[in-house]
Amino acid sequence: MTNGKVKVATVWLDGCSGCHMSFLDLDEMLLTIVEKATIVYGPLVDTQEFPEGVDVTLVEGAVANQDDLKLVQKIRQNTRVLVALGDCAVTSNVPSMRNWVPVKKLLERGYIENATETLQIPKDGVPALLRQAVPVGAVVQVDAHIPGCPPSAAAIGKALLDIAAGQPPKLAGMVKFG
Ligand code: SF4
Repeated sequence: MTNGKVKVATVWLDGCSGCHMSFLDLDEMLLTIVEKATIVYGPLVDTQEFPEGVDVTLVEGAVANQDDLKLVQKIRQNTRVLVALGDCAVTSNVPSMRNWVPVKKLLERGYIENATETLQIPKDGVPALLRQAVPVGAVVQVDAHIPGCPPSAAAIGKALLDIAAGQPPKLAGMVKFG
């Protein structure tokens, strides 16, 4: 905690950013949340390195490549409550649509067969894909799940306020399927 506020990080792995857009949809509820929480890392702030001693991290997206894997392991080591945010983080959802195709074939299809110039699979500066895109809970312990594609802003806000109050998130009735 800092000045009595919980330290919150948000992370975007293999997702479409829709879960973060839903987070921004909190609108005036953000005012209540910033009284109780400080955002210390994520796409919404300028911190470069994941900090130590984070109270809550919301993780959007599946774990799909080596960089995702290293980051989510670092997050786990430095986070008290790790939350899988949205269906891609909870089940691997959309990113898992490529799981039935071997990685080599996938890259050949994208970078050679469907390319019109520079027919080459990039190697430098591009993290190696994992064999499959997997849910966050497949590689590290997850403390809470907020399902939805994307989850509603109300569910995200409720979960954050519950955690800030030292309680597990209670989302019954706030999660809609279909
Ligand atoms: S759960 Fe839906 S909105 Fe969130 S990252 Fe995945 S596809 Fe996008």
